[in-house]
Amino acid sequence: MKQYTRVYAGIDLDAVAHNMQVMQDGLSGGARMIGVVKTDGYGHGAVPVARTIDPYVAGYAVATIEEARNLQLHGIRKPILILGATHPSRSRELAEYCIRPAVFTMEQAEALSAAVMELNRERGKDDGTAYIHLAVDTGMSRIGLSCDEEGARLAAAIGRLPGICVEGIFTHFARADETDKSSALRQWERYRRFIGMTEAEGLTVPVHHVANSAAILELGETHWDMVRAGISIYGMYPSDEVARTGQRLKPVMSLHSFVTYVKDIPEGSEVSYGGTFKAKRRTKVATVPIGYGDGYPRNLSGKGSVLIRGQRAPILGRVCMDQIMVDVTDIPGVCTDDPVTLIGRDGEEQITVEELARTGGGFHYEIVCDIGKRVPRVYVRDGRVVGTKDYFADLYEDFLTP
Ligand SMILES: *Cc1c(COP(=O)(O)O)cnc(C)c1O
Repeated sequence: MKQYTRVYAGIDLDAVAHNMQVMQDGLSGGARMIGVVKTDGYGHGAVPVARTIDPYVAGYAVATIEEARNLQLHGIRKPILILGATHPSRSRELAEYCIRPAVFTMEQAEALSAAVMELNRERGKDDGTAYIHLAVDTGMSRIGLSCDEEGARLAAAIGRLPGICVEGIFTHFARADETDKSSALRQWERYRRFIGMTEAEGLTVPVHHVANSAAILELGETHWDMVRAGISIYGMYPSDEVARTGQRLKPVMSLHSFVTYVKDIPEGSEVSYGGTFKAKRRTKVATVPIGYGDGYPRNLSGKGSVLIRGQRAPILGRVCMDQIMVDVTDIPGVCTDDPVTLIGRDGEEQITVEELARTGGGFHYEIVCDIGKRVPRVYVRDGRVVGTKDYFADLYEDFLTP
């Protein structure tokens, strides 16, 4: 493996497998899991995560056609569902690649039906089918059929279109991650009532799925046929209000860098843009080559800290695009090339993504999604490095090999 000397993210695939096992052990009845790997697997790398969770899942969920195709082109064979809206003009691709869209309008459904029929004509067969999952709006007001008689009639009408098979029907919780589950349970009741209405209209659907990570962990009664595991795959809890009971999830991503420069500055010196930090004493400053250009949150300016030699070093002044400065006055012996942990554990100390979110006033889901293309991912399985994902790897191939 290439030795990274600036910054890299460690992705612990053993922790991914552990988290899947923890969730599997908690599933109600015969519920199966859908692995949500949108936004490149919440920034962890969709393909290596998908391969790791494959033994645990019935299928995958993503946000776009491109994400679905990326999985397929990397050999993922199980069904893939697109959770958001897909434009009707892309129906042909959905049909051709057998990607499951979330459907909630007649216009989408008719376009897909037409695309399947066209494909069948071209292929000289009559049994090609497009599998869809109907989205139902039970309280998010985002996408989905309206949760009433009209919506139920529309669902049934979509199910009667030629070439269309309604494989699944789902809804999404807005507030399952809160201690008070009354809002989520109202959504659950609306969903069940809606399923009753669609059945009365003559539509029966094999797969019902509702639960996100929060509901997987805390609302066992909503597991039904399948659940959609997202943030918990990556070892994070949906919110601070979700109880940490039983087997704990393990964090998957760590973030590492190295000291590039160490120096003493006299009392009164300012550090970084805007001079927001002014030294009250002679201060030993270490420079670390990571910044908001790597997705390290700028809102940690003057608030966050990093780990060096097992100790906390506070961030001095503003986070720059590519570098930060930290206070190492109280950490003996810090020198150039010392490892720096921005997320993860170093000795007794640990910095979690949740801590970064809390400290900076950000959101933990967003922090991992935002870790950028400039940060190579290093994958560990069975305790050893099994691969890397490096956005600039092709550069080395093209320019540096003779
Ligand atoms: C992103 C998403 C999920 C996963 O949510 P987590 O909170 O990460 O578990 C599930 N369902 C839908 C519809 C989503 O958009």
